[in-house]
Amino acid sequence: MHGRIRNSDPLALESEAVHAGRDDLTALGVHAPPLDLSTTYPLHDLQAGVDSLDGFADGAASAPSPVYARLHNPTVARFEAGLARLEGAAEAVAFGSGMAALTAALLAARQRGGHVVACRPLYGTSDHLLASGLLGLEVTWCSPEEVGDARRADTSLVIVETPGNPTLELVDLEAVVRRAGPVPVLVDSTFATPVLQRPLEHGAALVLHSATKFLGGHGDVIAGVVACGPEHGRQLRQVRLMTGALLHPLGAYLLHRGLPTLPSRVRTAQEGACHLAVRLAGHPAVGRVLYPGLPGGDPLNLVGRQMRGPGAVLAFEVAGGFEAASRVMREVRLMTPAVSLGSVDTLIQHPAGLTHRVVDAEARRQSGISAGLLRVSVGLEDPEDLWRDLEGALGAPGSAAGIDVRQTATALR
Ligand SMILES: *Cc1c(COP(=O)(O)O)cnc(C)c1O
Repeated sequence: MHGRIRNSDPLALESEAVHAGRDDLTALGVHAPPLDLSTTYPLHDLQAGVDSLDGFADGAASAPSPVYARLHNPTVARFEAGLARLEGAAEAVAFGSGMAALTAALLAARQRGGHVVACRPLYGTSDHLLASGLLGLEVTWCSPEEVGDARRADTSLVIVETPGNPTLELVDLEAVVRRAGPVPVLVDSTFATPVLQRPLEHGAALVLHSATKFLGGHGDVIAGVVACGPEHGRQLRQVRLMTGALLHPLGAYLLHRGLPTLPSRVRTAQEGACHLAVRLAGHPAVGRVLYPGLPGGDPLNLVGRQMRGPGAVLAFEVAGGFEAASRVMREVRLMTPAVSLGSVDTLIQHPAGLTHRVVDAEARRQSGISAGLLRVSVGLEDPEDLWRDLEGALGAPGSAAGIDVRQTATALR
């Protein structure tokens, strides 16, 4: 295609990641986005203040004046614009954490109807929030196949997470959207990032991220964001305004700063994960390795169709249960034994004892979250250094005989 690039032209994800949310910088005469920490804004024009307040109360994304920082912040709005572009969404609404984002989505749903359908496994605290009844919503838990049967007249939201945490199961989004019929589907796409998966293209209405993870990427911001269409965006902003579940502008600044490197970070980490998954699968002290990039890890063939790659998180079972898993957590030297994921450094954690401790024990067992299961979020270190670290922590010599690691990793580039 010939001709000059116009502002409205769709760009490749890598280009959007670098430039999205920066449209106003030229007019401002700056190169880096400004960090606006104001809590209030001068209103010499009272009528403009009145109009702005009315607009924000109605859920508007912008107005002549921000009025007050709980209503609007330009630094946050730039990150939202950037993330919306990456997800192919009309809008994005940022929150002070992933859980604040989910809470807002549930409160908005509650105004439409008192019942939600949720598929396990979900992130531990998402599961806990829904199961607690705190928000007064009735929840039907079901498998992705059962969503159609679970749906009722007052169902206001279907919630799925893919890849699932911590078992890395993939959910067929188009099938779930079909079964959900008119009910909006919310997808927690934290593990995939828009680099590997864009749920709106598969019919989802809302995409949720714990931006604390890959989007932030450096382990220094807690944040959440929902990408969606204008009507959901309006409802989410109304909830945010009333509940005050704001993202601090410094967090938004750091998140926006990290977007340009997101595609590179995710791909490099994914290569490392492929490498480790293959190595782990050949180790005698390791049982199941859960990773969509391994044979049998993607029974619905969604990598390629729904996901652009198997991702940078994997889980594996060590023989010897809790004791053996504790030993690995104690013995790693390069990896950080800590919850969370999506950081530049590799994190290893024990779902049954930590992230999924709050999940009902029977539900945990049914989801395959055993005492010997460890989850690894692969970072940007050299994969062979990571393997040496893990092999040392496992305590017995491994063997990846018969599997060409290099070939597997490059095939996935
Ligand atoms: C971490 C996480 C959350 C919660 O996000 P916070 O930012 O910790 O509140 C939700 N879903 C998934 C998949 C997560 O990994």
